[in-house]
Amino acid sequence: MRWTIAKKRCAAYNHGSTQISKFFWAPRPPAYISCVVESPPVVFHGSPQDSTRAMLSGLLHIHVEEQPVVVCSFMATLRLRITNKRPKKKGCQECMHQSTELKTWTFLAAATELPTGQHHFPFSELLEGSLPASIDMPLGSISYHFEAVAIVLDDRNRTSCYPAKFERTVLIKRSIPEPLSSLRTVLSFDTGINIMAQYDQVIYPTGTKKMTLGLNGLRMCSGTGNALSQWVVRVVTWKLDENITTNFAACHTHSNLAVIGREGEVTLHKKIRTLGYECLTDAWKADYSTTNGTVEVMLEYGVAGSPHPSQLAKYACDVNAYGYIKSTHVLHVCIALSTQSASETKPLGSRPATCTLSMTLPVTLTEPGDSALSWENESLPIYRDSCESPPVYIATMSVGGL
Ligand SMILES: [Zn+2]
Repeated sequence: MRWTIAKKRCAAYNHGSTQISKFFWAPRPPAYISCVVESPPVVFHGSPQDSTRAMLSGLLHIHVEEQPVVVCSFMATLRLRITNKRPKKKGCQECMHQSTELKTWTFLAAATELPTGQHHFPFSELLEGSLPASIDMPLGSISYHFEAVAIVLDDRNRTSCYPAKFERTVLIKRSIPEPLSSLRTVLSFDTGINIMAQYDQVIYPTGTKKMTLGLNGLRMCSGTGNALSQWVVRVVTWKLDENITTNFAACHTHSNLAVIGREGEVTLHKKIRTLGYECLTDAWKADYSTTNGTVEVMLEYGVAGSPHPSQLAKYACDVNAYGYIKSTHVLHVCIALSTQSASETKPLGSRPATCTLSMTLPVTLTEPGDSALSWENESLPIYRDSCESPPVYIATMSVGGL
């Protein structure tokens, strides 16, 4: 009998979030499973409506240690799990989880004797691009779980079986391509001021994007056409907000519980997280030499402080998991203005007026697409990739005058 080091979490030593694990020697099972994922990171390219599919492939190994074992069955499954972190009944697994089986592989359906050594079982699946990406948010999460189970006959009594298991999560990302040109939109306000906003709708968790705001109609004229006063920009602020919504139904046992915010049999939860914010006092250029007067504001926006890979991400890319979990993003821009005399030598007689122009612009937060190639769009290798040209046969002798 071989021995191995096993780890056991000890609840008695839990102190806050710190868990103390105990290590001890345990008999190594006669057969165990390992897995190697051979495909590149799973990334869907494009929106769920028109996304490419992504390949998941790898090798499962059954390691038989000392003597042959009989494996009654060997199967693997890939499941999508949508988790509600605010269930109606705390601790109820049925209220918390919605699980969907995406793929089942049956490697061994009948009892099979496996000799000592390593046995390979390849698996692959093309995942539909409409599936939601993995996500972990305060109200809920979306995750993919790959589980392989071999039912092994116990070699001591040959009447009972034990399961050999392997489990891992599969991270799935979505990358929405950046449009070829930035979006332009014009907004008009009651003050007579028009704003032409030009900005990138697709943003990434790292890096910033540029926005240009062109303001005109800033001068207020008298009936004779002479400018009396003009609007002057004082402060510009932008804020990137993440709107998280979960919409889960309770399980059959707890569906009659009264919960605040309940809509029929489902409970709606909402949360807003601010991912980035900035207050600017000098990010513009003004030109009042024209009839209307113009101001051009330039700012950079994005997710503040890219998280370290070891830390929990403080953002969630855009996702909509069948209405259960939804994450969207908007950019709020506010421009505070006040009036001043159009003539520098002639001060404004009355108290200056103030106004705030607010804009809410939808943006899409997504993963950058340069980390992985689309499996379906990847071209097949050509000769130049492996050798210079196709093989060439050169005649070195002629037979019979040919
Ligand atoms: Zn329940």
